[in-house]
Amino acid sequence: MSVNDQIVRANDILSTAELASDESRASATPMMEQYIEIKATNPDSMLFYRMGDFYELFFQDAVDASRALGITLTKRGQHMGLDIPMCGVPVHAADDYLQKLIAVGFRVAVCEQVEDPAEAKKRGSKSVVRRDVVRLVTPGTLTEEKLLSPSDANYLMAVARIRGGAEPAMALAWIDISTGIFRLSETAQGQLLADILRIDPRELIVPDTLFHDPEFRPVLDVVGRVAVPQPAVLFDSATAEGRIARYFGVSTLDGFGTFSRAELAAASAAISYVEKTQIAERPPLGRPERESSASTLFIDPATRGNLELVRTQSGDRAGTLLKAIDRTVTSGGARLLAERLMSPLTDPDAINVRLDSIAMLGECPSFSEDLRRALKALPDMPRALSRIALGRGGPRDLGAILQGLSVSAGIAQTMVVEDLGGELAGARAAIAALPIDLSHRLAVMLADELPLLKRDGGFIREGADGELDEMRALRDQSRRVIAGLQLQYAEETGVKSLKIKHNNVLGYFIEVSAGNASALTDGDEAKARFIHRQTMAGAMRFTTTVLSELETKIANAADRALAIEFAAFDGLVEAVVAEAEAIKAAARALAVVDVSAGLAALAEEQAYCRPTVDSSTMFAIVGGRHPVVEQALRRQQAAAFVANSCDLSPDDGKGHGAIWLLTGPNMGGKSTFLRQNALIAILAQMGAYVPAESAYIGVVDRLFSRVGASDDLARGRSTFMVEMVETAAILNQATDRSLVILDEIGRGTATFDGLSIAWAAVEHLHEANRCRGLFATHFHELTVLSEKLARLSNATMRVKEWDGDVIFLHEVGPGAADRSYGIQVARLAGLPPSVVARAKDVLAKLEDADRKNPASQLIDDLPLFQVAVRREEAQRSGPSKVEELVKGLSPDDMTPREALDALYALKKELGKA
Ligand code: ATP
Repeated sequence: MSVNDQIVRANDILSTAELASDESRASATPMMEQYIEIKATNPDSMLFYRMGDFYELFFQDAVDASRALGITLTKRGQHMGLDIPMCGVPVHAADDYLQKLIAVGFRVAVCEQVEDPAEAKKRGSKSVVRRDVVRLVTPGTLTEEKLLSPSDANYLMAVARIRGGAEPAMALAWIDISTGIFRLSETAQGQLLADILRIDPRELIVPDTLFHDPEFRPVLDVVGRVAVPQPAVLFDSATAEGRIARYFGVSTLDGFGTFSRAELAAASAAISYVEKTQIAERPPLGRPERESSASTLFIDPATRGNLELVRTQSGDRAGTLLKAIDRTVTSGGARLLAERLMSPLTDPDAINVRLDSIAMLGECPSFSEDLRRALKALPDMPRALSRIALGRGGPRDLGAILQGLSVSAGIAQTMVVEDLGGELAGARAAIAALPIDLSHRLAVMLADELPLLKRDGGFIREGADGELDEMRALRDQSRRVIAGLQLQYAEETGVKSLKIKHNNVLGYFIEVSAGNASALTDGDEAKARFIHRQTMAGAMRFTTTVLSELETKIANAADRALAIEFAAFDGLVEAVVAEAEAIKAAARALAVVDVSAGLAALAEEQAYCRPTVDSSTMFAIVGGRHPVVEQALRRQQAAAFVANSCDLSPDDGKGHGAIWLLTGPNMGGKSTFLRQNALIAILAQMGAYVPAESAYIGVVDRLFSRVGASDDLARGRSTFMVEMVETAAILNQATDRSLVILDEIGRGTATFDGLSIAWAAVEHLHEANRCRGLFATHFHELTVLSEKLARLSNATMRVKEWDGDVIFLHEVGPGAADRSYGIQVARLAGLPPSVVARAKDVLAKLEDADRKNPASQLIDDLPLFQVAVRREEAQRSGPSKVEELVKGLSPDDMTPREALDALYALKKELGKA
C-alpha cells in the first residue's frame, strides 16, 4: 500500500481506484453505480455531479473542494461501510466556484442530467436519470467571462516532437478558444522554453513520452503545473492532417499552406484536446496561421523575466512595461498590445506599417480621439461569439454582438477619411464589411434590458413577434385576473386575510388560516366551490375550478411564450454564427485600431518619437529614457528623469556593433540605462513609438539581458551558478545582429576570478559575437580593454561630490569612473556609522597600499576592528570615569603617597571597565 493510500485510508475516504473495484461496484446503489462509472472515466478531474439545482461532489473531490472553496463538508449515506463525504455548489453560482478551483490548479468535469427526470421514471421508480459529462473545464479551454481576464489571451498550447532526423523536429500549436486564434510554429530543444514563455499559455499539453524525458525537465521546472501530460497517440503525426481537415470540414489542408510534420502533430493534438474537453461542441477556430520564429525577436527566458515586460519578477502587473504603455480602451486592444509586446517583429517593413498607423493618428489627434471615444463602448465581441457558438451564450452575449456591430458601424463611418496610413486602411475594410442586416435583425428582436440567462425568457423585444406578444398578454392578464379573484374570494367568504399563493408542488392555491377555514368548508355551496388540497400546521389550502382553469391558461401561455423566445434565440444564434468569420476579422481590426490609437495617445502624452527602423545594425538613441522609471518618478513628483543617449552603431564598415563598458557609482543609474536601451529596442520592434528624442535601430534578431542576481535553489543552482548559466547562453547564442545587455557579471565569486571572467566575456562579445552591447561593471580594471578592443568604448555615470556626500547626476558621459562610491551609498542606506567609518579606513589603506602587496598583509597594518569600534564608541559616549579621575588630579599639589593612592584608584577603576 502506498503512502498515499495509507493517508486515504487514515481519513476513511475511498480513492477513485477503490471506488472502481468490482467489490465497490457490486455493492453500489444505482445512483452510486452511475457516479462511479463517470468518475472512473475522468479520474484526473474533479467531478461536478448534477443533482437538481446543485452540482454535488463526493469522496476525495468533496474533501478537496470544500477545502479549496471554504464550503461545508457533509455526508450522504455510506458506501462499503464508510461515510460518503459530500459537498455541493449551486448551479447558478457555479462559475465563481469553477474560477477558484481552476485558479488553484484543479480541472473539473461537469456532469449534467441528459434526460428529463420524467423519462427516467418511465423506466421504473428506482431508475436513475441519465447523466453524462458535457464538458471538461481546464485552464486552457475556458470561455466564461467570469473565468477569463479581459486583457489576457487564454492559450492552450500543444508541443510535439518527432524523432527520426539527426535532430528531433519540434513544433508548437496554440489556440485561444475564447477568441478563435489558432497559430503554429516550429521550434527546437534549445528554443522551446523561450517560445513557450513568449506565448505564455495557460495550459501546455505534452506527449507523456516527452513529459517524462529528462530533456524536458528545464521547461517543466519553469512552467510547473501549466504542463500536463497527454497520451502520445494524441500527437500522432500520421493521422494529424486528416483530423485537422475534419475539424475544418475540408478534404485537404492544401489551401491552408504547408506545414511540417511536427507542426501538424502539434496542431492536431491541440484540436483533439479541444474536442476532448468541449465534448459535443466545436468552438469556431480561425484557420491555423504559421508563425516563423525568424519573424519575431528572440528574447530568451532570463531576459524576458529581467525586463519585466508583462509581469514583474514578483508576478505583479504594476511596474511592467505593458502597464506603462497601455492606453487601449477595449479588451481586444489590450490583448493585442500584450501579444505584440511579447513578440516584437524582425521585419522592418512590417514594423514600419505599424508605425505608419501611429504616425497617421498622431497627425490627426481629433480623429484619433473620436476613434478612442467610440471604441470605449465596444464590448468583447470575439469572446461573446465564442460562447454563442459553443452553445453557452446567453441573451447578453447576443446583446454584445449587437452593440459591437453598431459601434463598429459608427467607427467605419468615422474612418471614411483619405490616406488612412499603415494598417488602418485594411482595418477599415474589415470593420465596414460587417453585415448590416444581422445588426438590424438583432436590434429588432432583442429587448433593451437583457437578462443574464435565457432560462426565464424576457429577452425578446415587445412588438418583435405577434404571437409572443399575445401569449405574454394572456399570461400577464391572467395574473391580474388572479389578483382580482383573491379580492373577490376574500369578500365573498368574509376572510380578509385570504391569499392566493403559488408554489411548485401545488401550483396556485387559496390559503386561509386554520381559524378561518370554516368559512370555506361549512355549507354545501362552499364545499362544492372550494376543493380542499392541503392542511398545514396553522393553515388550510384550497383550490377552485376557476383557479385551476386560469392556472392552466397561465402555464400554457407562459410555456408557449418561452418556447417562442427560445426558438427566436436559436434563430439569432444561427444568424450570428453564420457571420462568425466577418465578426472575428472585424474584432481583430478594431483591436488594431485601438492599439494604434492607444500608442499614438501614449506618444503624445509622454513625448515619444517615431524610431527609424531598418535592416542595418545601427543603434543610435538620442535622449533616451526608461519608460517605466520615468512615469514612476513623475507620479512620485520626484526629480525629472535624466535622458541619456546611447550609440552602438558600427563604425568598422562591416556592420559589427559597438560595445560600451559602463562604470560608475552604485545607484548612479547603470541598470536603468542598460534596461532602457533594451526596452527601446523592444518598443521599436513591436511597432511603437519610443521614449527618446530620436532613435535609429537596425532590427535586432536576439535580445539578451543579464541583470541583477537571483538564485534558483529549487534547481540546485547558486546565485553565481545562475549567473554563469545565463552568461553562457548569451556568449553561445548572440549573433552580430543581437543586442546584449550585461549587468555586473562575475560579482558572486572571488574578486580576481570574477574580474577574469568579466574580462574574457567582454573580449568574446567583441571578437566572436561581434554584437551590439552594453556592459556595466564595478571592475574598473576592465576599462583598459578599450585600448585593445577597437569597438569597445568606456562610458560612465557622472556624479558630483559635495561636502563628502555624493550627488548622482544620472548622466552618461564618455570615460571611466575612478571609484564606485559604494561606501557613500552604504551610508545613505543606513549602515551603522561605526561600520561606515571602519569601511572608509579600510578603503583608504587598500587604496594607499602597493597593488603588488596582497590585501591580507595590509590587513595586519590596520588596527583591529573591535578596537576601532571601541575607540569610536568611547568618543560617542563622552569622557570615561578614568578620564574624569585623571583630569581631576593636580600632580603639583600631591605628595608621593597621594600620587601612589591615586594610581591604585585608577587601576581599580580600569579593572571595573
Ligand atoms: P547599482 O550599481 O547599485 O546596481 P545602478 O547604477 O545600477 O546601481 P540604478 O539601479 O539604475 O543604479 O538606479 C538607481 C536609482 O536611480 C533608480 O531607482 C532611479 O530612481 C534613479 N535613476 C536611475 N537613472 C535615472 C535617470 N536617468 N534619471 C533620474 N533618475 C534615475
